[in-house]
Amino acid sequence: MAIQTVGVIGAGQMGNGIAHVFALAGFDVMLTDISREALDKAVALIAHNLDRQVSREKISAGDKDAAMKRISTTLRLPDLGQCDLVIEAATERESVKHAIFEELVPHLKPETILTSNTSSISITRLASRTDRPEKFMGFHFMNPVPVMQLVELIRGIATDEPTYDALIEVVEKLGKTTASAEDFPAFIVNRILMPMINEAVYTLYEGVGNVRSIDRAMKLGANHPMGPLELADFIGLDTCLAIMNVLHEGLADTKYRPCPLLTKYVEAGWLGRKTGRGFYDYSGEEPVPTR
Ligand code: NAD
Repeated sequence: MAIQTVGVIGAGQMGNGIAHVFALAGFDVMLTDISREALDKAVALIAHNLDRQVSREKISAGDKDAAMKRISTTLRLPDLGQCDLVIEAATERESVKHAIFEELVPHLKPETILTSNTSSISITRLASRTDRPEKFMGFHFMNPVPVMQLVELIRGIATDEPTYDALIEVVEKLGKTTASAEDFPAFIVNRILMPMINEAVYTLYEGVGNVRSIDRAMKLGANHPMGPLELADFIGLDTCLAIMNVLHEGLADTKYRPCPLLTKYVEAGWLGRKTGRGFYDYSGEEPVPTR
């Protein structure tokens, strides 16, 4: 089956980036969210990010206009019924994702491939709550989607080969590269990345270093392009905490215990860049450490 129409559920950080790259690659995109404000913000952000690509001469103004025309938005999940491929990129909470699939599945064509951009939740478990575990996969884009080259592909226990092959072809059309991971908690990238970020938060919590020292140490000492706390703010502290909880519960090893300071920041609503405050305060011209 040729994939032409792609549904994206959730118009947050990831959903807008996913809609952006699919529209630019020539797919028709239908973006949905529970919040009209999130949809409007996402469309404005996609236009802004495409403009940046035009000004850097990565794409033409015509490419931008054509991509914007391929994106439509809706508040109604059943409107995604005719899509060939659906990518769920809503909030990282398992109950939210189950509820979405429950509502959506009765409206889907039988051949539609259903995927989740989850960073950590079991693909097999999500798939088991749908009518099509063989056509269900983990489709894990990295943030920011228009910039990052990798897409992690995760097969659930029941995923069939044609579904896997179809997604490889889609990723090639996007001009990105795949890495295949087995369905274990947090897959490859976050299994390695999140314990490092969590350890950076412990390093702050125990007073081994302050925010600037920790980030500078890893940037200049380990040649990372961003410091771990800066990166955590960028990803979203709620997402980081959710992934640590999945690792902790899924692998039952205390080495994955989320740092209490990370929990406290999330409880305070300090979720990083998206709320203007996390390990850094983003209200001024330059980010300033919050402690
Ligand atoms: P986000 O908080 O920026 O956006 C989530 C969006 O989902 C919000 O706009 C919210 O209104 C919407 N939403 C919530 N419930 C919904 C529902 N029932 N139907 C439709 N929309 C709904 O989160 P995000 O960072 O974009 O993360 C989304 C997904 O992508 C998560 O599964 C996360 O694990 C994954 N992911 C995140 C990153 C990252 O760096 N942030 C990277 C890779 C994957």
